[in-house]
Amino acid sequence: MHSRTIPNWDGLREYPSGFAQMEHRKHVLFYRQERGGILVSAFSTNACFPTGTKFPKRVRSRITILRLDTYDCEREKMGNTKGYAAANAKSALGPFTFDRRQPREHDVAIGIKFCGICHSDIHQVRNEWGNSVYPMVPGHEIAGIVTAIGSKVTKFKPGDKVGVGCFVDSCRHCAQCRSNEEQYCPGLVVTYNYRTPQGELMQGGYSEKIAVDENYVLRMPESLPLDASAPLLCAGITLYSPLKHWSAGPGKKVAIIGLGGLGHMGVKLAHAMGAEVTVLSQSLKKQADGKRMGADQYFATSDEDTFAKLQNYFDLVLNTVSSDLDWNKYLSLVNVDGTMVLLGVPEKPVPMGAFPLISGRRSLAGSMIGGIRETQEMLDFCGKHNTPAEIEMIPIQKVNEAYERILKSDVRYRFVIDMASLKAS
Ligand code: NAP
Ligand code: ZN
Ligand code: ZN
Repeated sequence: MHSRTIPNWDGLREYPSGFAQMEHRKHVLFYRQERGGILVSAFSTNACFPTGTKFPKRVRSRITILRLDTYDCEREKMGNTKGYAAANAKSALGPFTFDRRQPREHDVAIGIKFCGICHSDIHQVRNEWGNSVYPMVPGHEIAGIVTAIGSKVTKFKPGDKVGVGCFVDSCRHCAQCRSNEEQYCPGLVVTYNYRTPQGELMQGGYSEKIAVDENYVLRMPESLPLDASAPLLCAGITLYSPLKHWSAGPGKKVAIIGLGGLGHMGVKLAHAMGAEVTVLSQSLKKQADGKRMGADQYFATSDEDTFAKLQNYFDLVLNTVSSDLDWNKYLSLVNVDGTMVLLGVPEKPVPMGAFPLISGRRSLAGSMIGGIRETQEMLDFCGKHNTPAEIEMIPIQKVNEAYERILKSDVRYRFVIDMASLKAS
């Protein structure tokens, strides 16, 4: 927090947490440093700063107002929610009770039934990206049932099967939000491991309930089981989005590196889109599964022949691996004008040589989840093409064990937590 970046504002008091209060007007500002200025949101119990509010001159030049909200702090304090949390980067997950906000007028309250375990949960619980906030309730593959709605909600009603993915809000004004690619919004509010400018610590889906603005809630496919649909909300969209972006379909050769949570959805989706699909896995152990899911070919990357055989073969290579790989070697499998897309997030940077790129006009790209509109499109696609995730259901008490198994690539192919098991904690 950069409270010192709003200097000399009469009546403004700084708090160590980064809140600033203008006492004489009974207004409170929350702010944080953003690339283009300072993101500000404001509330008071009887008024809020509408968009375009004239801030004092000295402050105005430093502030970019991206979004303003009314905010009722009394209501925010309510709600006891049971979940599982990590207390710090070294601790196992354990039972944890915390406050969630009550539904606001545009909010949908959701009773969480199932939550998938994404490898990103492990990265964040263990602070492998260096940005973790504790205590942390992970989980961004949330599937549940609507239990209540705010007075202004129009899209959902109690009883609906709904989902929440990796983010629960965004600024709604920037170019990315306007083009339905909120995942790249600089003001993105991710589902957990994030403290909002208002000071709310967001907590994820390893818990019994959540309230989310209806514009960030997804409708789950009626034709698929809810438990096996939960992983679509991260693993599904993370693969669907680049497959669409790089036009996977008939006549295109697509490789998926790593047959884990993300990878197995990649195989199913690329196959359903009509592409030729090849799995590049560490071994041939999961070959039969991969082929059943729709892979046309399956190769072991532990076999050096694989790289010789497949030189310049693919139009699109999607890399879901979270460990360090020799990207230069994998890039040589990409055909002229083809693309390798990084989806996995290894801890360390990997050096890239120029030759694998220039010697085939190849592209190296990255891609992160997908926007709300595309996520809904993906869910509808999965419903239509019958492509649920393959899951192993666990009670929440087994979550730490599941993490260890994921780290050993012993996952077939996504763990999903049955949230009914929380009652036993
Ligand atoms: P996962 O279920 O653990 O799958 C990763 C797969 O990578 C494993 O099943 C394994 O497949 C392969 N692998 C593991 N260690 C390897 C090694 N040392 N060398 C080669 N291959 C190895 O994980 P996930 O949930 O799919 O997530 C994968 C990565 O994507 C994570 O880093 C996660 O944070 C990231 N992610 C990114 C996005 C995004 O928006 N870009 C979204 C979600 C997750 P085989 O056994 O078949 O080799
Ligand atoms: Zn994820
Ligand atoms: Zn935005």
